[in-house]
Amino acid sequence: MFTKDSFYEVKERINPYIHETKLIQSKTLNQLTGNQLFIKPECLQKTGSFKIRGAASKVTALRQQGKEVKGLVTASSGNHGQAVAYMAKIFNIKAMIVIPNNAPLAKIKAIKAYGAEIVTVGPKSSERLAKAQEISQEMGYLYIPPYDDYDVIRGQGTIGLELVKENLAIDKVFVPIGGGGLISGISSCIKAFNPGIKVIGVEPKQSCCMNTSLKKGERTEITPNTIADGLRTVMPGELTFPLVQEYVDDLVLVEEEEIKEAMALVMERMKLIIEPSGAVSVAAMLKEEEKGKNLVAVVSGGNLDIMSISEILK
Ligand SMILES: *Cc1c(COP(=O)(O)O)cnc(C)c1O
Repeated sequence: MFTKDSFYEVKERINPYIHETKLIQSKTLNQLTGNQLFIKPECLQKTGSFKIRGAASKVTALRQQGKEVKGLVTASSGNHGQAVAYMAKIFNIKAMIVIPNNAPLAKIKAIKAYGAEIVTVGPKSSERLAKAQEISQEMGYLYIPPYDDYDVIRGQGTIGLELVKENLAIDKVFVPIGGGGLISGISSCIKAFNPGIKVIGVEPKQSCCMNTSLKKGERTEITPNTIADGLRTVMPGELTFPLVQEYVDDLVLVEEEEIKEAMALVMERMKLIIEPSGAVSVAAMLKEEEKGKNLVAVVSGGNLDIMSISEILK
């Protein structure tokens, strides 16, 4: 589907705007599990999550085609909204972020801090999407989808490129799944370079639209209910679902308690602040049954309200 060259090309385009995150290990976790565990810390990425990769990929793709980008618009109060707001600031263009009227204050503040304009609508995701597309059409702003877009997917896939370029015989890579953009990019990239590396998707048991859809053989709606706020997706994407069907080797489901334990372990032992959505991959890696393997967990983000940590871990 995507060539090796296409990932090199995207990586080169977005390199000025992202960090190349370096793998981190913990001896304690290795001893605990009998595997060599590596964390790909996208919690240390610019804006605190990998979402900057996809947003940067989309904006730079258009600019490369010589198209003028007047402004950016999206519908997300979370990490994607922050990434889009940040990219707009970098290119000195306007950003409008459509959010629900019940979005947490911390997130609104983060988006405003990047200089973006907030547009508030009702709580339904369909309302946000409609408003964002209306703004895109009326103002001529570029709409950046959170996952269902090939430029966004290739941008997230640059994590896979960084992994296959590591001097390391990786056996398995664990990747959180929301709408599936992150894992679509990573898995299609890794399989293009080294089909021997297994790519394992991870979802909270209480929010597993991809697992449900894969079993049914078609995109299926669910009602998410998890502390992992970045993974509360109702249905897999139209573009991401077939990519996951083709390139992802297996799926693991994790309990809410397992997510909290993984968060606590990584914070205590590795001194990394990670959000629940980023901890699901660690939770899956911790319960791997095979031993003596090189395992990588993509820790997708680290944005959370510090004051909520003790509440989450209680
Ligand atoms: C968006 C997000 C995800 C899920 O990514 P998808 O591309 O929607 O599968 C996982 N973790 C974090 C921290 C995120 O912000």
